[in-house]
Amino acid sequence: MKELEERIKEQGTVLPGNVLKVGSFLNQQVDIKLLQNMAKETKKLFDCEITKVLTIEASGIAFATAIAIEYGVPLVVSKKSKSSNVSGEIVSAEVFSYTHNINNIIFIPKDYITRDDKVLIADDFLANGCALAGLIKIVEECGAKVVGAAIEIEKYFQGGGDKIREQGYRVESLAKIEEMNEKQIVFKK
Ligand code: 5GP
Repeated sequence: MKELEERIKEQGTVLPGNVLKVGSFLNQQVDIKLLQNMAKETKKLFDCEITKVLTIEASGIAFATAIAIEYGVPLVVSKKSKSSNVSGEIVSAEVFSYTHNINNIIFIPKDYITRDDKVLIADDFLANGCALAGLIKIVEECGAKVVGAAIEIEKYFQGGGDKIREQGYRVESLAKIEEMNEKQIVFKK
């Protein structure tokens, strides 16, 4: 998506460890017009029945909310916990956090996604694919269908997206970065 790629070029900063900072327009301060355009683009890409949108806290919530509004369906947010000691009837997955370098347990209450649901997963970044794999596991353990995943920025060079595509899931990213360093960010054509 051209508009997103241009903003990343203008305002994105590449930090050590292959981390792209987009806090000024996507993550911490959110450009609402851009957000709305990204949600509309996602709805064009997934022109099919969606009954729920699922994301992981925290930085994917804005994007996932905008998408859920476009479809007029509930948003489910998977919470993170550092221990596996989470009470109540839950469905969980262990996920390695790319930005914090720790393992988290992500979970949702068991009854928030049911067998009849057709779920679109949404997140801000896709790097090695751990967060997305964990979210897929949760949807499938609930017995629901994963329609696909909508990602704002895929760091394509890290390979997580293709690993998940090879497993048969549809992954659509609004910006795909082929290469990045402090001097330049190159997008995949
Ligand atoms: P993965 O699990 O695919 O390795 O990483 C995806 C998760 O890590 C996303 O939910 C996102 O929050 C975070 N993440 C990965 N790479 C970046 C990055 O370059 N910048 C930011 N801000 N977050 C990232």
